[in-house]
Amino acid sequence: MRCARRVRIRGAASGGGEAVQVEIVEVAPRDGLQNERTPVSTADKVELVRRTAAAGIRRVEVTSFVHPGRVPQMADAEEVVAALPRGAGTSVIGLALNERGLERAIAAGVDEVNAVLVASEEFSRRNQGVGMVEGAAVVARMAARAAAAGLRFSATIGAAFGCPFEGEVAVADVVRLAEGAAAAGVDEIALADTIGVAVPTDVRERVRAVRSAVGEVPLRCHFHNTRNTGLANAFTAVEEGVAALDASLGGIGGCPFAPAATGNIPTEDLVYLLDRAGVRTGVSLDALVEAVPWLDRVLGARTPGLLARAGGFPAPVIVGA
Ligand code: ZN
Repeated sequence: MRCARRVRIRGAASGGGEAVQVEIVEVAPRDGLQNERTPVSTADKVELVRRTAAAGIRRVEVTSFVHPGRVPQMADAEEVVAALPRGAGTSVIGLALNERGLERAIAAGVDEVNAVLVASEEFSRRNQGVGMVEGAAVVARMAARAAAAGLRFSATIGAAFGCPFEGEVAVADVVRLAEGAAAAGVDEIALADTIGVAVPTDVRERVRAVRSAVGEVPLRCHFHNTRNTGLANAFTAVEEGVAALDASLGGIGGCPFAPAATGNIPTEDLVYLLDRAGVRTGVSLDALVEAVPWLDRVLGARTPGLLARAGGFPAPVIVGA
């Protein structure tokens, strides 16, 4: 067992020691849109990816290779990937829930594949169509196939903080899935609070437990703001040394298979928080703020993020106004 990789954010902000940085993975085109009833055009999905990449985000989960009957909004997965401008330094991630989805993702030409393990039996059956043990075996086979195809491969542990059907999820179950994923050679392990029940003490406990179990495998966290704890959880994850955080422009999103699941943490709110805390993301807050009214128009509704409405701080001074 090795020491947890915790970081001291205040020290970094005041210029002492190595600057803390965290990678932001934009998930609005996939997790954000998958619950939207209004169909979003392929062109608008491509524009959403383009805008977030232009803001400096280096990894974007662009779609899900899931059966279109299950998630109609993702029916154009191949078309979205084919239409993306490539070679601009942004890694294109496709979500795949099974080996069929993985083959589609490989054929479509994604850079990375994100697969899902679920830390509760009932939710695993509803989301993945298989139980936890079989789900772990499927992900291990997918990891080998992705490696053979030369793709980066992440395993996301869904319901890692609580299950909509079974309630509390044991830390030991999360750790067991993480150990299996690490043994399968995945490039990254993510802990996902799919239904937005976590609080910072849960994040600290589970990130430390998984870190102790998987050693140097990079960790990512995925939070939903269902109970308004998402940003506090994200900040705690950064303090605990996670390498990456998922976020969704405007805070859109939700899981079609989890009752009452609401949006991901808003990317622009997260970047504001991290900027002010001296944590580097490489992402332009201004570019994100400009993209939010565009996204509101596409969806025909005001997205839940707050920063784009309030503006950054300090605000730019407009001379003569
Ligand atoms: Zn999610």
